[in-house]
Parts: sequence; C-alpha cells; structure tokens
Amino acid sequence: MHAIVYHGPGQKAWEEVPKPMIEDDTDAIVKVDTVTICGTDLHILKGDVAAVTDGRILGHEAVGTVENVGSGVKNVKVGDRVLVSCITACGACRYCRDGSYGQCIGGGGWILGHKIDGTQAEYVRVPFADTSTYAVPAGVTDEEVLMLADIGPTGYEVGVLNGRVRPGDVVAVVGAGPVGLSAIMGAKLFSPAHVVAIDLADARLEAAKQFGADITVNPAREDAVAIVQGLTEGLGADVAIEAVGVAPTFEQCTTLVRPGGTVANVGVHGGPATLHLEDLWIKNVTITTGLVDTYSTPTLLRLLATHQIDLARFVTHRFAMADFLEAYDTFADAAQTRALKVVLTA
Ligand SMILES: [Zn+2]
Ligand SMILES: [Zn+2]
Repeated sequence: MHAIVYHGPGQKAWEEVPKPMIEDDTDAIVKVDTVTICGTDLHILKGDVAAVTDGRILGHEAVGTVENVGSGVKNVKVGDRVLVSCITACGACRYCRDGSYGQCIGGGGWILGHKIDGTQAEYVRVPFADTSTYAVPAGVTDEEVLMLADIGPTGYEVGVLNGRVRPGDVVAVVGAGPVGLSAIMGAKLFSPAHVVAIDLADARLEAAKQFGADITVNPAREDAVAIVQGLTEGLGADVAIEAVGVAPTFEQCTTLVRPGGTVANVGVHGGPATLHLEDLWIKNVTITTGLVDTYSTPTLLRLLATHQIDLARFVTHRFAMADFLEAYDTFADAAQTRALKVVLTA
C-alpha cells in the first residue's frame, strides 16, 4: 500500500510500505476511505515533535471501512464504517475510567501518526478498536464525520467546555483557523451574547462570520481589548479561547478576559509564554489547558446527524490520495490558498 512517511524534519514521501496486520487481539485494520491533514502534522514536519521518528506514517484523522478485527474485538465488525479518532483509548486505565482518554496510560492517548503508524495511508491499524472508533451515523457524509476526528471535539472540549461558556456570555476566540472555528461553532450551541473572532488574516475572519462570530477583529488595524471592553462595560470577555499556540496570543487572552472569567488554551505551544501574575493574581481568573479527550465525540455525532451543527463548511479543498503531496502544499500555504481542511479520498 501507499502512505505518507515521515523521514525527518522537512522530509516526507508518498511511498510504498507494507500493509498493516493485526498485532493485538483488540486491533482493527481499517481501509481508509477519507483522511485529512492537521496543523499538528505540519508541526511534526518542522521537527517540533521529537517522539515522531524516521519511517513513521503520519496522520491521526480518518473515516474508513473495517477490513479485519482481532479476536478480542466485540463491537466493531468487518464492513462497518467507522470514524478513527485522533485519540486511542485503552478503556481500562485510571484516566480512561475518568473519561480523560487523551491522557490514557494503558497504551492509548495520541498515538496514531505519533508513536505508531497513522491514518495517512491506504490502511491503518487501530488499537483498542472497540473504545477508539465510532460508528458513522446514517445520513451523513464521510467528510462531515471526518471533522470529528480531531478539530470538532478539540474546539468544543478544550475551548468551549473547559472555558465553561454559558448563555449570555461574551466569548473571544483568538485564532480563526480550523480549531478556532470549531470553538466558535461550539460556543454558539450555548447562545452567547457575542462571539468575537480575532485573527490577523481577513479571509479567516470571513470564515469566522460564517461559523457564527458576530464581531470580527483584525489586531493589525484594531484594538481587540478596547472592542471587547466596549461590549462588556469595560470588564472584558467572560471566556477567552486561545486557538493559535504562540506566546503573544496567549498573553492577549489574559488581557481580554474579565475578572472571574476563564482563559481556555487550545493552541499547541512550542515555546514559553509570560504569565503576568502581577496583573492576574487579583482577578480570580481561571486558566485551563488540555489535550482533547474526545469524550464529546458521541454528542457531536448526534448533533451532526440531527443537523444542529454544519461540519461540511470546514472542507475547502479535495484531493485524491495519490495527490497527497499537493494536498500538503495547499494546506501548508493556507494564507494564499485559504485552506481550512483538505480532504483526501481513496
Ligand atoms: Zn490533529
Ligand atoms: Zn487508558
């Protein structure tokens, strides 16, 4: 079969590799029908994720068809259409028993395309198949469901739920890439008073409006703190969601939030940020961090199946898997191509 194989910083290839086989009795082998590329894959290709070594197949998001299952798999059957989630769950460890699957210490967590071979391939081995895949509901497309492999639950859990968004809140979302847009979409489920999207790219602010932001701010031209204070009698946002992953945007969130509010960090940070405790110590501010657990995936699948959320809007570009390298170029050059999510089909 063919797969996207990582060969060290800046090096990847769509190349012939052995087809995966069942290794543990809880494995499934899934034929990948639809797959996408994550911003995290670009981080890996920059060399930011040391655990990813030469020869690793990338990718942690897919929808596919079960081709084979191990003898210990109870609920997943050959021929099932399944969502392969970015988080694998052993289902038995302390963290899994608590619903914190992202922190699994029983061999799961974020392993696909990280510690084991991933989904950017014609076939993928999925460990703990019963607790790490989700049946695709009737009446929805593969590419809609694919948006729930990572960005859907990430924006919702780590942004909206960690941020404790409530009806009537003013929610500021810093960064309107796919995960920021997912957080905007998730925040709207709680009927906020305002959703303020903040981004340096006007194309992404336009997308933010389509996903439900009623106010957009480009900090190159406008003062985000002044605009949010103007909406809140000078207090600041109830919830500030960081969806970029650099120090200036995290620090901005701590200036956007009101006393008693919450800063929910979603961004993947590659360096330190300054925590201005000299300002924050007196403000009763809560700061949350997190890797997605995907405990909300069943909820989001129900919202998709009943058309309460529109996930098709995320998909801006489509490719055949044979054109995987072109898809990477398009996704990596989002400023020019306006790519949000690119979808590859077998
Ligand atoms: Zn991802
Ligand atoms: Zn576990």
